[in-house]
Amino acid sequence: MSEATSPHLPEGTGENIGIVDTDRPCVRCMHNLRGVATAGKCPACGTDVAISLTNMLLQYASKEYIGTVRSGLSIILNWILISILLAFCAIGWRYIFARAGYVLDEIAIAVLGLLTTGMIIHGYFKLTAAEEGYSEPPEKHAAFRTPAMSRKIVRVAVAVQGVIAALQFVFILFVVGKIDARTEFIVTISMAVVVLILMMVQMIAVMRCIEWLALRVPDHYIIKRARRYPWQLPMVAIFGLLLLGLGPLLALVMYWNLLDRLRKHLKSILKTGVPAQLKGMTANAASAVETAKA
Ligand SMILES: [Zn+2]
Repeated sequence: MSEATSPHLPEGTGENIGIVDTDRPCVRCMHNLRGVATAGKCPACGTDVAISLTNMLLQYASKEYIGTVRSGLSIILNWILISILLAFCAIGWRYIFARAGYVLDEIAIAVLGLLTTGMIIHGYFKLTAAEEGYSEPPEKHAAFRTPAMSRKIVRVAVAVQGVIAALQFVFILFVVGKIDARTEFIVTISMAVVVLILMMVQMIAVMRCIEWLALRVPDHYIIKRARRYPWQLPMVAIFGLLLLGLGPLLALVMYWNLLDRLRKHLKSILKTGVPAQLKGMTANAASAVETAKA
């Protein structure tokens, strides 16, 4: 790994003479490109040098953008902690107080649900914020293209979940108890199924956005996981149910750790101008080839 880290270089560095004349890391492997032709390829991994000369790396992105994404991540991470805490409270309540005759207040749960949904919408909208002044790399590599569609999908998915949470609130407050139990059951289950499908779609799109941000650190530990979590996390959640019902918790912890690792990089970039130095960031040969093919 090179020490190439002088952030916020003037635009067009080295363009005039056709040679990179400052310390500038390759976006894929961090190899120092000083002295390499701007029209050439990285001597270490073969990525076009032109891509590395754009503001592709997050350390060259605007502080406002990094700050927005970082606060989005923080909101989502806090939401996960609150959700886990609430779930344990609800389980505890059922086991301890229900025996003493205190029934869990459905309306209180609905209000909390509505509040926490507001929180995730806010968090995901910040995470997928548009980046002012970002220009696409000149070469058409799929791996380096902005995941614009994924950002939209994330936003639509969380917004629809917000609408459903509001509907559930109205349903629990005004409808439950006034219609027959069978209709009530069907409506409740249908809303749950729709939310589950939305969450799966959202997971795929969020992971594409996370992969994109990690590619710009670059941190291959995150990239690898972002590629397999869309199918791995649901598997862990479902099959983990057999393990004392801890599957969903385990999947949430894995998700939390991945987002937290990205947040560490953004914090470090805001503080020192460069990403955090964490274990396993560099690509192994297999994943570098995979990225090159994309
Ligand atoms: Zn390289």
